[in-house]
Amino acid sequence: MNALLDSTLMACELCPRRCRVARGGGARGYCKAGDTTEIFRYGRHDGEEPPVSGTRGSGAVFFSRCTLRCLYCQNYPWSQEGAGRPYDLDGLAAILDGLRAQGCHNWNLVSPTPWLPWAMEARERARRTGPDLPIVYNTSGYERLETLRALEGWVQVYLTDLRYARPESAAEGSDAAGYVASARAALLEMWRQTGPLVCDAEGVARQGTICRLLVLPGRAQEAVENLAWLAEHVGPAIAVSVMAQYTPAHRAVGRDPWSRRLTREEYEPVVEALEAHDFGTGWVQDLEMPSPDELVGYRMSPD
Ligand code: SF4
Repeated sequence: MNALLDSTLMACELCPRRCRVARGGGARGYCKAGDTTEIFRYGRHDGEEPPVSGTRGSGAVFFSRCTLRCLYCQNYPWSQEGAGRPYDLDGLAAILDGLRAQGCHNWNLVSPTPWLPWAMEARERARRTGPDLPIVYNTSGYERLETLRALEGWVQVYLTDLRYARPESAAEGSDAAGYVASARAALLEMWRQTGPLVCDAEGVARQGTICRLLVLPGRAQEAVENLAWLAEHVGPAIAVSVMAQYTPAHRAVGRDPWSRRLTREEYEPVVEALEAHDFGTGWVQDLEMPSPDELVGYRMSPD
């Protein structure tokens, strides 16, 4: 067993909330995760950015529980209400094995933070029965620096969000006033570990960091501010994905401005800012086709 699993079972501090609850003794912290991995669904997923989905899909594992409580969360039945099934370590390793057998390019762990030590152990078991696959660490960005440091060399591709630029928005939207500081520090650490996106001959990601910006209604200016922060603190070599797919769900319904889609007037300045900063690699969703399956890819600056 890994040391991170031992410490998590005794006093969980995996994420910035640092609940310090003894998950191995039956206690549960903010995210309500216990001592056995819970998963809502898993399978081939073609809706990620093109280098992650590739031609054979990413092997996605959608974990139950989350360290945020976004009032607009489309996944709230499993992220906030605990839908899903328990899997022991052999069960989780068997899932990874099955995704590999399907030909998926990578193991795409979606919101894995509360289950990291279990995922690390399961990957070790899966490595014993077949070739290793790159780990895509698919996160809201609300990560603790110390935990990320333990992942150096274990994660190949970070797929992370920068969702807010102001603590009051993060508090209202996700019950996480510390999100901005945590997510920005986390992104710098991810970038230090993996650097720019590197793809193989088929255009499939082998290593790197991709930063997503989910543009929020009434808060598009914060995406503009985050693009400026990225350009200044990371530089134009980072791959950026601007997302227009916000759809009101869960507690956002009936709550202004969370209850509406983005308007063209608020989205266009974000796209203009993206182009003005001249990021070398990235994708932008068309406001008219905001499904994750319809990400519009383009190079934002000539090579
Ligand atoms: S992972 Fe869950 S229990 Fe652990 S510190 Fe974060 S919110 Fe608390």
